Parts: sequence; C-alpha cells; structure tokens
Amino acid sequence: MAPLTFTKCFDPDGARFGIPTYPWRLAPEGLATRRQLRAEGLRPGGQPIAAQLLRPRFRREPLVAYLYRVDLAQPVRPMTSRKWGALALAMLARRTCPQCSTDAGYVIPASLGMCVPCAYPEEQRVA
Ligand SMILES: [Zn+2]
Repeated sequence: MAPLTFTKCFDPDGARFGIPTYPWRLAPEGLATRRQLRAEGLRPGGQPIAAQLLRPRFRREPLVAYLYRVDLAQPVRPMTSRKWGALALAMLARRTCPQCSTDAGYVIPASLGMCVPCAYPEEQRVA
C-alpha cells in the first residue's frame, strides 16, 4: 500500500474512502467525535458515522476517528429516579458505620472500617 500522506487524507466527498474524510485536527464545523460529544453532554443517538478523521502514521495503519453530526446528537440519557434511589441507598450504606450504625455523614474510610469517633474514641474525648 502506498504511504498515506496528509493531503490524501483530505477527501470531503468520500471519493477515495467512501465516506467524507479529513486530516486529523481539521474536522469541519458541526462534526465531533464521540468523545467530544460526550464532553458536551451529548451522544451520537443512533445516527450513522458522518465522516472520519485520518492521521497517517509511519509504516503503520492510519489512526481513524469517527465523526458525528452535532445537530443530530442527543442529550445523554438522564439517570432515572430508580437509579438515583439505588445510588442514594448505596451511598448511605457506605456512610453508615458498622460499629455504631449511625450515618457518619461521610463515606466510612476503608482503612478504618468504621467512623472516626469509633476508631479513635480516646482522641475524641480529649478533643
Ligand atoms: Zn461509629
């Protein structure tokens, strides 16, 4: 295979690669990678890949990043109330001291295995 040069990666009509292709870091306006969408709280939402970025590499296959249309992206699905409830219960369990069974107000440190007053009763009394 002939080495892929930077200019060969510029194929906005997809004549060479089948889908619109741009050199790395030269993505057109309105297109974003999955990672870039995620940073904006978006997801591709089932849309097909709109274009790809190619970065030639010496004697290796080029790096490929797929681009999606930002205008077709959808917001990341918010957590359901059931998920929130399960998370709250899990957090409460992690905050509850197994020694005195009270909500410590913070996650019980794994190194102590109990809340701080239970782990250091003497020092609490002095303080
Ligand atoms: Zn305790």
